[in-house]
Amino acid sequence: MKTHQYEALIVGAGGAGLMAALYATKGGAKVAVLSKLYPTRSHTGTAQGGIGAALGNLEEDSPLWHAYDTVKGGDYLADQNAVKVLAEEAIDAVIELEHMGLPFDRTPEGKISQRRFGGHTSNFGKDPVRRACHAADRTGHMILQTLYQQCIKHNVTFFDEFHVIDIIKNNGAVVGVVAIELTTGELHTFHSKATLFATGGWGRVWSVTSNAHSLTGDGAAVVYRRGIPLQDLEFYQIHPTGIYKMGILITEGVRGEGGVLINRHGERFMEKYAPNIKDLASRDVVSRAIYLEIRAGNGIKGKDYVYLDVTPTTVNRYMAEAGKTDRLTEEDIEKKLPDILEFCRVYLGVDPVKEPMPIQPTAHYAMGGIPTNINAEAVSDENWTVIPGLYAAGEVACVSCHGANRLGTNSLVDLVVFGRRGGKSIADYVKHADFVPLPSNPEREVAAELERIRTSSGKTRPGELRKSMQQTMMDNVGVFREQANMEKALETVRELKDRYNNDLHIDDKGRKFNTDLLEAWELGCLLDMAELTTISAMNRKESRGGHYREDFSQRDDENWLVHSLLTKPESEAPYHQGAQDPIVNINKKVDMSLAETDERFKPKVRTY
Ligand SMILES: Cc1cc2nc3c(=O)[nH]c(=O)nc-3n(C[C@H](O)[C@H](O)[C@H](O)COP(=O)(O)OP(=O)(O)OC[C@H]3O[C@@H](n4cnc5c(N)ncnc54)[C@H](O)[C@@H]3O)c2cc1C
Repeated sequence: MKTHQYEALIVGAGGAGLMAALYATKGGAKVAVLSKLYPTRSHTGTAQGGIGAALGNLEEDSPLWHAYDTVKGGDYLADQNAVKVLAEEAIDAVIELEHMGLPFDRTPEGKISQRRFGGHTSNFGKDPVRRACHAADRTGHMILQTLYQQCIKHNVTFFDEFHVIDIIKNNGAVVGVVAIELTTGELHTFHSKATLFATGGWGRVWSVTSNAHSLTGDGAAVVYRRGIPLQDLEFYQIHPTGIYKMGILITEGVRGEGGVLINRHGERFMEKYAPNIKDLASRDVVSRAIYLEIRAGNGIKGKDYVYLDVTPTTVNRYMAEAGKTDRLTEEDIEKKLPDILEFCRVYLGVDPVKEPMPIQPTAHYAMGGIPTNINAEAVSDENWTVIPGLYAAGEVACVSCHGANRLGTNSLVDLVVFGRRGGKSIADYVKHADFVPLPSNPEREVAAELERIRTSSGKTRPGELRKSMQQTMMDNVGVFREQANMEKALETVRELKDRYNNDLHIDDKGRKFNTDLLEAWELGCLLDMAELTTISAMNRKESRGGHYREDFSQRDDENWLVHSLLTKPESEAPYHQGAQDPIVNINKKVDMSLAETDERFKPKVRTY
């Protein structure tokens, strides 16, 4: 067991982690970044369509309109103080990325190019607006590379392929983490004054997903096991357009460039569901519309998919009908959406320039996570009590700037805006905070759990459990939800957990580079996230954003303008066996600070 000491630890090297590491380092803190993946393999690298900022390079725009769209898109559950920060600081953050060298696409005048995206409008919902700043359809890749280069330039220390498996607490403060080094199998203790989690999402809970294998919710699960609450887990976004059966994301940028959704009768069906901005309505609205079309037998060939058509003939026909003068050519599509074309040509044998793409909704983004304030400090309750030493940013965090449904392009903004704020707060904090001592044997429990998994000799393979969990979650805790189905899902997940705890079997019994062991450990995190998501969804008896209940189909602002906080009861052992019931707290009110002075931010019926 090796012990290291750093003033600040950043767990995760995606956009949020790298931005936080950069700012904490620039602020004078001694920082280490721990990442289970080599940093540039982090999932931020797959983000396609763009990062939202009201630069107004191509059309008039303003941060207030961006804030309005975000609050409305989030179905009024977003904390409005956080939304204000997001929309206002997005502009400066994007310009900062540009100055760091990020190669954005350009307008003919040399400004950062912008495209339309779902739910982004001008004039408080009037017309779609070009707000998404993009580098072709590889925006996240460019952000990740740019930030990594900046971290290297500023001598940030990296521990690559170090898998964090526990946090260490003492006297109520978070004082470090335990990690396993993949190459050696050795455990390391990292002692810190401040620890920021930026470990991304948990899309692998569902069977059809845009998320990579690594997105297993580790950060959320490990803090939950140590008594830190998780917020708003019922709000998980199912993105409308994944490649049929594979889930690989087709960016909303395709619809931003004029692509349209078509059912088997050749109808542009979004005209029925969102008469004003049609295919560019927010994701929850479009995903539900696709499901409704499929249920009505309007899927292509009667199956569970529809078409996304970006062929110039179709796009230009609709542009002309709408009285728009812009036209799309095959060359435009090749230039602006190269990765999407390649995915479809390689995986489907479909050429989107000439024919429509078969798509279905795909699990995509966690709106919930570790609750934080606008300085990325983790909080434990409705009184915003700060948990000393713990910070979170990016997808694993819930500063609640996305509320019940995230708008496209707002995650990348979230990473850089709140990652930067987190880095700055950590730099300030470590200047005056002392190291709280480590407890004795901080790795004891998690080492025992790893040993249990490594030496397990039951009958059940992790893959079997994973598949069953993913299917039950897709079928019962997806776009449409209902009490009896969710109860069924909970029962299944708990049975799977029981088998995970008592009947597991993995093949690799070695210690070095044991990915078998770590994948099995990650499955434990996924099972926890599946269980907690289902419990949170059963508890919320209304429909809002990404959480749609057929048995409570209306939004209920009177009773449910609140966040859900789930906390593990103190009496439970960290590595519990079998089922457990979290404490559910629904007293944390939504911040309505913009609505207090501006009527337009008050909850109203959401139409697009
Ligand atoms: C296909 C796709 C396209 C997208 N397109 C867009 C877009 O155009 N615009 C937009 O705004 N958003 C987009 N998103 C969403 C956005 O990309 C993600 O929400 C965001 O990149 C998450 O960044 P992050 O820094 O929070 O985490 P990630 O980039 O996922 O990084 C997580 C990091 O945590 C590390 N980690 C995880 N667990 C552990 C552990 N146990 N120990 C140590 N390290 C750990 C990983 O190694 C990694 O470095 C897209 C998402 C997908 C899947």
